[in-house]
Amino acid sequence: VVAPLKAANGDHQPKKLPKGIVLGKDGKPCRSCTSFAAWAAMTKENARQNNPAGSNKTLATDMSQPSNPPSDCPPDVEALGRGTWTLLHSIAASYPESPSMSQQSDLLSFVKLFSKLYPCWVCAEDFRTYIGREVPKVESRDDFGKWLCGAHNDVNRKLGKPEFDCSRWQERWRTGWKD
Ligand code: FAD
Repeated sequence: VVAPLKAANGDHQPKKLPKGIVLGKDGKPCRSCTSFAAWAAMTKENARQNNPAGSNKTLATDMSQPSNPPSDCPPDVEALGRGTWTLLHSIAASYPESPSMSQQSDLLSFVKLFSKLYPCWVCAEDFRTYIGREVPKVESRDDFGKWLCGAHNDVNRKLGKPEFDCSRWQERWRTGWKD
């Protein structure tokens, strides 16, 4: 997870906080801004500090610790991101090829509101910066799909993930892959 180690109010986190943990606006660790791995490491470290005597018998627990969040737990930054990208690209896939002015206005409003409400505040902050730099293109399905693909690639680059070939966004999210 590449996320700045700072709190929502702009303060830097105290050095004691475990790596990868991002604070929310309430000053507490922000679950939807943090990966499950970092969250689990923090929980484990807290338990160790609260019960140093029990730290020798954690091996069995360690081995049984899942590497992914259980499906019925609140989402971490990755599960939230995957679900959100699925929704956003699917909105692009179902957007009209020739949208009316009202549909264009709705989509633009949605993107702007989304960028204010996204639960991972560090992600939302960077997304708002992206929108300021690259104005959302809502004139057609392909315009929006390609713009969104570019926005997703911007996050991919930040996280060190491979970039997606935006000429194939419809195959991935609308038509299925060509043979
Ligand atoms: P995802 O990146 O979630 O992608 C899901 C699928 O989309 C991929 O499997 C691939 O098939 C397809 N895909 C990949 N790239 C593209 C593309 N460019 N266009 C079309 N389809 C594509 N996480 C952080 O740790 N820090 C952040 O700052 C951060 N910011 C985010 C901002 C937003 C707006 C969103 C929605 C998510 C953000 N995330 C952030 C989450 C992050 O982008 C990933 O969702 C998460 O790391 C899980 O990644 P993944 O490898 O499962 O695939």
